Amino acid sequence: MIEDFLEGNKKFVETDFKQKIEHYAALSRGQSPKALWIACSDSRVDPERITSADMGDIFVHRNIGNLVPGNDLNIATVLEYAVNHLKVKDIVVCGHSNCGAMKAMVSESSSGDRFIPGWLENAKAVLDDVDSSIGPAEKMKAIEIANINRQLKNLKGYYMVSEAIERGDLEIHGIYYDLETGLLEKIA
Ligand SMILES: [Zn+2]
Repeated sequence: MIEDFLEGNKKFVETDFKQKIEHYAALSRGQSPKALWIACSDSRVDPERITSADMGDIFVHRNIGNLVPGNDLNIATVLEYAVNHLKVKDIVVCGHSNCGAMKAMVSESSSGDRFIPGWLENAKAVLDDVDSSIGPAEKMKAIEIANINRQLKNLKGYYMVSEAIERGDLEIHGIYYDLETGLLEKIA
């Protein structure tokens, strides 16, 4: 399996890398990404791929469910570096359709997992934000979008984010990715 990736890397070097040799030379000396993109770890939602972004354009943080817990050292460190040092102008929280994390959060099944339930606890408040009268067909999308909004709210709880917004140096956005159409929809 890993051989496929190493072969793929040779193809990358022969095509993209060689075609943009100056771009990659500049990147080897430093990065100045335009945005921090917080996304789900899901294999189908690669930020650079779905935005046709270039290497170096996006600083990325991915985790299960695109969550921004208020007490998470990992995301706190990413935010501190992206906002205080890289000085990104935008932060995107990108959720997506058919998100396994959101499904697992609403299901009551117990699988013996030791870490996933605790992590998903960080998003449980989202369920309070969703109108209970919404039918089952629309419910998962409503939860996925409520989750994006909740994580945007959590983002503002981090000092470097609120201070940068206050100074007018930073904007935060919520975006929803539809796996079926490939389209991004700005929701906040
Ligand atoms: Zn997901």
